[in-house]
Amino acid sequence: MFTVIDIVQPNTVEEAYSILNKRKTNQVIGGSAFLRMGKKRIGTGVELSNLNLDYIKEDKEYVEIGSMTTFRTLETNSIIKDNFGKILEDSVKDIIGIQFRNVVTVGATVFSKYGFSDLIVALLSLDTEVELYKGGRISLEEFLDRDYEKDLLIKVYIKKENKNASYKSLRNAKSDYPILNVSVSKYGNKFKLCVGARPQKATVAKKASEFLSNNEINESNIDRAIEMASEELTFGSNMRASKDYRKAMSKVLLKRAIMEVI
Ligand SMILES: Cc1cc2nc3c(=O)[nH]c(=O)nc-3n(C[C@H](O)[C@H](O)[C@H](O)COP(=O)(O)OP(=O)(O)OC[C@H]3O[C@@H](n4cnc5c(N)ncnc54)[C@H](O)[C@@H]3O)c2cc1C
Repeated sequence: MFTVIDIVQPNTVEEAYSILNKRKTNQVIGGSAFLRMGKKRIGTGVELSNLNLDYIKEDKEYVEIGSMTTFRTLETNSIIKDNFGKILEDSVKDIIGIQFRNVVTVGATVFSKYGFSDLIVALLSLDTEVELYKGGRISLEEFLDRDYEKDLLIKVYIKKENKNASYKSLRNAKSDYPILNVSVSKYGNKFKLCVGARPQKATVAKKASEFLSNNEINESNIDRAIEMASEELTFGSNMRASKDYRKAMSKVLLKRAIMEVI
């Protein structure tokens, strides 16, 4: 369990960011499910409940998700379903249980760039951007590539594009972390193939995505694309699975997701 010396609930994001940066040990508190598993000593915990960041709304071009939105809201929200089908629901619906998903937040998950994250890999295949207090609004892809910098994730934007998209994962047991997760989207002829829990963080298989976008969609080209993806990406071993197993399974999951989107 972590220790917090004191807790503040700022009323503006400016105040939250300023307190966050007053001391090295100050830290944002989201749903606190992950923090609770560690033994951190936090100076001032910056709790975001007063900032009205628990919302999902849409305008003509984007769906906006506030950073304090929980997984359960994401899973059951009609704006999400109407715009992106089942991909986001599918990516979170098997994580632990409903009570847990009522607590964990989108902002904490995306900001933390967990390698195993089921939500991040799903968001990556959609056109997703993040808004950081200091870092500004950037694509999720760019954010994942950036080095860590203390900041406040305010919201996530997803472009409304009518993409066909699918998420798949593999777990040793239902409530365990994923061994591997993938997502695939198709917009017109353009495919985006993403793989996470390699166990490194989610990334786009760029060569394979480009190949599939520029060639006829048939069995042999799909097989070639998944082979390319497994070669261009790096995989690793940990207590859950070996590098070779992950590499082999990436082809199976990617093929299933591709078949679903076409
Ligand atoms: C037991 C357990 C099992 C899990 N299994 C899975 C799984 O199978 N698949 C999966 O994808 N995920 C899994 N997760 C991760 C979970 O889905 C969340 O991603 C994780 O708990 C973080 O969300 P939180 O709200 O609890 O964050 P917290 O614990 O509150 O915070 C986590 C980190 O994010 C920082 N933070 C919080 N909010 C912000 C913000 N707005 N801006 C900047 N920094 C912020 C905090 O300072 C902290 O460093 C699991 C977590 C736990 C505890």
